Parts: sequence; structure tokens; C-alpha cells
Amino acid sequence: MLELKKLSKYYHDKQTVVKALDDISLTFENNEFVVITGESGSGKSTLLNVISGLDSYEDGEMFFMNQETSYFTFEDWERYRKNHIGFIFQHYNLIESYTVYQNIDIASTIAHPHLAAREKTVMQLIEKVGLKGKEKQKASTLSGGEKQRVAIARALAKDAPIIIADEPTGNLDQKTSKTILELLKDISKDKLVLLVSHSYETTKAYATRHIRLADGEVISDDKKRQKQTPVQKTDLKSEQLNFKDLFFIGIKNLLATPKKTLFTLFVALFVVGTFALIYGAYVQQANTESSLGGFRYFENPNRIMVTNRDLSAFSEADLAYFESLDGVQTVLPYDTILGLRAYVQIIGDGYQFFYDGFFNHPKTIQNSDISAGRLPQNSNEVIVRMDEFDLGDTIKISIEIPMRFGEETDIRIYEFEVVGKLTGNPYPPVIYPHADFFEDDVIRAFGLFMHQETIFFPYNSSLGNISPSLSLNNELEADEIIISQYLARQIKNDGFDGDNLVVGDTITMEILEKLSLQPIEADFTIKDISEDLGNYGVHISLSEEGLVHLFDDVKPHQISLMVFDSFDANRVLDQLEEVNVHSLYPAGISDPLAQIGQAIMNLFLGFLSVIVLFVMYFIGYMALKNVMEAKRKDYVILRSIGLFKKDLNRLSILEILMVMFLAIFIAMIALIINANIYAFLPNYLRYYQWGNYLFLAVLLLIMSVFLALRFNQRIFSRSVITAFKDQG
Ligand code: ADP
Ligand code: MG
Repeated sequence: MLELKKLSKYYHDKQTVVKALDDISLTFENNEFVVITGESGSGKSTLLNVISGLDSYEDGEMFFMNQETSYFTFEDWERYRKNHIGFIFQHYNLIESYTVYQNIDIASTIAHPHLAAREKTVMQLIEKVGLKGKEKQKASTLSGGEKQRVAIARALAKDAPIIIADEPTGNLDQKTSKTILELLKDISKDKLVLLVSHSYETTKAYATRHIRLADGEVISDDKKRQKQTPVQKTDLKSEQLNFKDLFFIGIKNLLATPKKTLFTLFVALFVVGTFALIYGAYVQQANTESSLGGFRYFENPNRIMVTNRDLSAFSEADLAYFESLDGVQTVLPYDTILGLRAYVQIIGDGYQFFYDGFFNHPKTIQNSDISAGRLPQNSNEVIVRMDEFDLGDTIKISIEIPMRFGEETDIRIYEFEVVGKLTGNPYPPVIYPHADFFEDDVIRAFGLFMHQETIFFPYNSSLGNISPSLSLNNELEADEIIISQYLARQIKNDGFDGDNLVVGDTITMEILEKLSLQPIEADFTIKDISEDLGNYGVHISLSEEGLVHLFDDVKPHQISLMVFDSFDANRVLDQLEEVNVHSLYPAGISDPLAQIGQAIMNLFLGFLSVIVLFVMYFIGYMALKNVMEAKRKDYVILRSIGLFKKDLNRLSILEILMVMFLAIFIAMIALIINANIYAFLPNYLRYYQWGNYLFLAVLLLIMSVFLALRFNQRIFSRSVITAFKDQG
């Protein structure tokens, strides 16, 4: 079945050329048990390597089943090795992390991927080599003799017609050697066995033929009994491993080396985590408006102001629609509340602070914004964005009319307990009361009152439209009012020449509701005339009931859609383009300088992402180098028992990809936990759209493939035999 004709092989060693095989002509038949002996360096190993296709030859020809092997392509050699050669090495070359069973099973899987009764076959082989009961033992824990038995069983698992053994008993004691040789003899009944041994004596009993080599030449060829048997018909076609087979081999490899796999996973998590954060920062930055900076009620970054183009009121259905938009956290139907100024008094343990601040809605708070404590759960609780307080402090907040001239007047004092603290420390401070606050009728009325202008009747044209300061006096009836002396003097009873207004007179307030353009008119009885307070003396007092009553009929005309940040604001603005409303995102109005800064920042972060990707690739490479070096030995073994280079390439890529997939999966879960349950990182998840996830995953997976290919280069740059020699 095998014929060597004038075959020569040279090794080029720097200057000298070593002729390792010199003009060898030999024919081998089925059923032979050939023992090859010779001095060390006589070419025995070289001969076996050439015959088994692990090494090439230069001159002459080798025929296999009458085919000239000099025409074999790389793939032909791979198929030849896989289907026809069972190789038994002196150093066993088992996959140490595999069990006895797995070592044999893998050879069977590679040779016959779709064998039905594999388990039974493998168990029979284990029994045949006398290792029954040890099938679950790791190869690394076996004795030398046991390892060689596994190697024999593995060679048999392929069911190859040629068994090649290079000094298989070289490392074994005499007694063990004998059992190994008997095993080989036993299997030579229907195979060609080529055995290299340094002593013919020990193998004499089994050999059917003895070839002696010296200096690469055959010096004797002694056929003891040659009995011809018909040659089995074999061809070079073979079953292919499919993706599923490789997938399971990959899983098996990863599970067989749990420490290495965990380490790889750890590295992958580090790479994924770091890159996800940098990329997240980029996505956020690229989608965030540059703002004028600082927090003012109008430029509140959490509000998008919306009105109908004709300034008509929104219906309940409209509000529900806005509420349903992607990115809208809640809708404030009377958003002038956001313009109220809070005069904050913090009363702590022996200290007091006073601040001017603004209100914001608690639904715009993200978990990751909370640096201490929690969100308000009762209407008397607040969470604040300011430094000078402790959890548990009481803060008193009185609400004032901002930007009016003159003295401010308290409208009502609220007492809150501080239950949470937010990151960031802007000036002026921002107070987030419970959501109930924004539904309070008095607050709503006050927010509306603050934004309107009032005309008093009887009309006095020199007074015109004015914005009186207001204080609440709950001793008044709903239709009673107290006006300042100045107003009493100016408005008079009958125009310019009349008497001053007096207690008991009726005064008409016409409130020009700017947004609805629908004046509100109400009559009040003057209960008292007060000192001149507030806005140059233009001051009135009403009861809470009266104030609330005044704005009873006002429908929402200007609303604010509350969002987490400008990233979401942009998304909401996009959605609003589909409906015919006027929308304004005040925080998005930016100055050109800020825009340039923004563009530079984008560029910088984009560039940083790319750099980080390369750095991560490098770190991944360095960190995994040792692991891959260790795996390399296993890969070379798999190749020596017949795994095609192409499949091995795929296998190693698959293994890295599987770990990377797992890392991405874990990172996703961590990000979801971060966003929804417990925040331990800046909340980047919410800036990611599906496209970003996909981009990130694809990028990381491509990086893994590159990493695997780079490692493979190191594995495949050598022939099987030089790769083995590298292992020492
Ligand atoms: P044996 O197995 O009989 O001890 P080998 O087949 O290993 O002998 O070696 C035959 C000759 O080829 C020796 O002179 C050895 O030094 C040389 N040789 C073997 N492998 C190489 C190699 N990779 N590079 C250079 N010379 C080699
Ligand atoms: Mg040798």
C-alpha cells in the first residue's frame, strides 16, 4: 500500500546540508509489523515523519495506493494524515486537560464527525487498552504507561490503516513496554504498523520485518514472514466537520481548562467594559446639546416647552399623547411652576443657610444621579442638588415672585425633609419635591399668576397693565381682596377725578392670560386697604381659595415635556416634528463658541474611542499571550491527529468569540442592572440605541477575530513537526 522510491530528504542547517534520508526504496504492505532500528540520528524519525506526511521530502517519490504523493496539495496531505495515519508519539502528546475519554473521543470526532455509536466505540477502545474505569480521569494525572495506552486507543479511534509509532516505549519501563508492544501487535492484524525502537531485542517477538538504518540509508531489510492480505480499498474523500461539531469541540475545550477560560473571560470583560464606557461617553457627548451652562428655570435642561401653533389649549388626549412619547418622563401641564423661585432656608443641627433656588420635577432624576439617600416618597420630602445640607435636615421653602421690582413677599412656607442628594452642585440650587407638589392647586395658581399681567377696573390708563405682588391671607373670603394704598389712590372710583377706593368698594381684576389670550375677569370686594408693599406699592392679598378660584377655568396652553437630558430631548423633538406644535428646548439654545467646543469634544472622544480600541486590542493580546501559548500545544496535537488547518483556524476563532460573546452578555446585564436596579457606573446604557449596541458588539467581535488570527499565525507559521519540536 506504501511504496518509497529512491526517496531523499535533506535538512539545510545554516551552512551545512544534512542528508537525513538517502535514496530510500521500500515497499510496505497491509498486516506488516515493521520494526525500524538504528543509531540515534540515523534518520528513523525522519522516515516516519515523511511517511506520515508530517514532513516533506525532496527527491524520489512516495506512492500511496499507487498515487504519486509528490502531486499532493496541502489539503491532500491533511486528508491523508487524517484518514490514513494513526501516530503514536514517544511523548504521548495527549491533551492534558482532557479526560481519557475525551482524548479518544476527539480523535474519533475529527475522523468521523457523524458516527452514530461513538460512545460505545470509544468505551470499547478504552477497554481494549485496559483503561476501563479510568475514562473520567484527566490525562495529566496518568502514568507514562497509561498515557501511551490512551495514545494507542486514540490512534485506533481514527480507524486508520497505518499506525506509526516513534519509540513509543522509550519512556517506559520494561514491563509496561511489553504490554504496549502486545497491544500494538494485537492491532497489527489488519493494519500496517511501523515502529521505531532503539532495541530490536524487545520487539523481536512481535515484528514481521526488521529494517535497519544508518546515516539515512537502509542497511538491512529482513522480512521474517510475509503473508499477503488483500489491501483495503480506501480513498482520500472524508467527512467534513461542520460548524456545530466545531462549536461543541470549542465548548469542550473551554470547559476543560476552566482557569484559562475564566482568565480569558476576565480579560474580555475588562476590554468590553472599558470600551463600552469610552464609547458610551462618546455617544452621549455626540448627542448632547452644548448649553449656556448653569441652571436657570427657563433653561432647565429637563424641559421641552410645547404650545399649539394657535396657542389653543391642549386636550386630555393631547397630554396623554405627549406623555407616551419615547423619552418623555412626565408632562407638566402648567409649566410656569418651573419659573417659581424658591427661597430656601436649610435648618440643620445648629446651622442655617439661605438660598435662592428653583424647582424641578423628580421624574427627571435618573438612578445614577442620586449620590445619597433616595427619591422623595411623601409630599413632605425633597431630594436636592446642592451641597450644604445633610440627609435628615429640614428645609423651609417659601415661594416668591421672581424678577419683580422691590420687596418680595412670601406666599406660603413649605417644610420638607431632605431624603436624598444628587450628584453635581449647580448654582442656584435645584429642589426636587415630591411629584404631588406640581399638582398642588395653590402652586399651580401661583405659577399662573406670576406669568400674567393684571388690569384693575375702574381703569386708570396711567397705571396700565401691571404685575402686582401678591400675598396670601386665608382670613379673607374667596371673593375678598386687600389692596395697597397706592392702588386705592390710583384707581379711584370714577376715573381720574373720583374718590379713592375705600373698604367695601368693588374692584374688577382682569387678568390677561398671555398664553390663552383669554382674559379672566373677577370681581372682588375690598376688605381692607394695606400699606404699600412689594412692587412699588402695587400689592394685593387674596385667600388661597380666591387665588385658586381665579384660575379655575384655565386649561393647559403651555406645557413642558420633562425628559432626562438633552440626549432624550433631541429624541423627543424629533418625534414632535410629526405633529403640528410649536416646541422649544431652551437648554438647547447655544452660543457659537459652545458649539465649536462641542465639535472639538466630539472629535476628541471619537478619536479617543479609536485609540482605546487599539489599546484594548494590545492589552488583550498581551494578557492572553500566555494562555494562547499554553493552548497552542493542544491545537498542535489536534492538528497532528487530523484536524484540518482550516477547521483549527475556525475552532480557535470560535473559542475566543464564545468568550467574547459571554463577556458582552455579562456586560449588558451589568449595564441593565446599573440602569434599573443599582447604579455603580455612569448611566451610559440609556444613550445607546440598538445601532450603538450592534456597532459595539460587531466591533468587539471583529477585534476578537483579529486577535484569534494573530494567535493562529503563531500556531500555523510552522509545520506540524516543527511546531512540536518547539514544544520541546
Ligand atoms: P533518529 O530519529 O534516527 O534519531 P532523525 O530522523 O531525528 O534521527 O535525524 C536524522 C538526521 O537529521 C540527524 O542528523 C538529525 O540531526 C537531522 N535532523 C533531524 N531533524 C532536523 C531538523 N529539523 N533540522 C536539521 N536537521 C535535522
Ligand atoms: Mg528519533
